[in-house]
Amino acid sequence: MLNETSRILSQASKEGRKSLLETEAKTICIEYGIPVTKFELSTSEEEAVEFADAIGFPTVLKIVSQDIIHKSDIGGVIVDLKDEADVRQGYKRILQNVKKHNPKARIVGVLVQEMAPASTEVIVGATKDPQFGPAIMFGLGGVFVEVLKDVTFRVAPITEDDAVEMISEVKAYPLLKGYRNTPPADTDAITRILLNTSRLVIDHMEIKELDLNPVIVYEKGAKTVDARIILE
Ligand code: ADP
Ligand code: MG
Repeated sequence: MLNETSRILSQASKEGRKSLLETEAKTICIEYGIPVTKFELSTSEEEAVEFADAIGFPTVLKIVSQDIIHKSDIGGVIVDLKDEADVRQGYKRILQNVKKHNPKARIVGVLVQEMAPASTEVIVGATKDPQFGPAIMFGLGGVFVEVLKDVTFRVAPITEDDAVEMISEVKAYPLLKGYRNTPPADTDAITRILLNTSRLVIDHMEIKELDLNPVIVYEKGAKTVDARIILE
């Protein structure tokens, strides 16, 4: 069952790569029961259109390159593409942006992915403490983590009680219970993601850092729209 994860990790290590591609990180997520947006890796404009048709509109395009870790910083992410013409234009634009900002980047392809509707965004992470080993991080996205540093940590492996406690102890917790136009978030879905992330980093100690940022949480279910994994 967990063969795909081992295969991806050993392939990266064979190539001397310290960071996984989004496609690889998300394939690992799927194997560990962490929900992600549907995706297909295209290597031509024609293929991007074909995949967008199959996945459905609106869609999202993203650059896939081992040399580009922060994709949106260089114009490597375009969201809300509404039809085939948008996809064709977006495909060209992403490649132009990459060429302009990082002409030496090795390009694997352009990822076509399901566009997740807006809702509450959370972040799930894992880091390694030299003394305690892997730790799991949780917080709400955007200003909560970036400005307010409203996050919480537990040393892995975590239990279900730990996960429930982590979710309820961040200051922004009331927002998960629903506010204004936002319905209450599925905290059980977040609990499962925290537990599965813990299982993943304990099974694979070669993972140095993991970042599911953001995970969009709905009234029912959640979807990871970006996943990053850095190896030792
Ligand atoms: P990076 O963090 O490498 O810049 P992301 O994949 O996180 O790139 O994309 C940047 C932002 O675009 C995300 O934080 C999210 O707001 C939005 N986004 C990315 N993918 C999707 C998606 N599939 N559905 C909806 N929004 C998305
Ligand atoms: Mg991101």
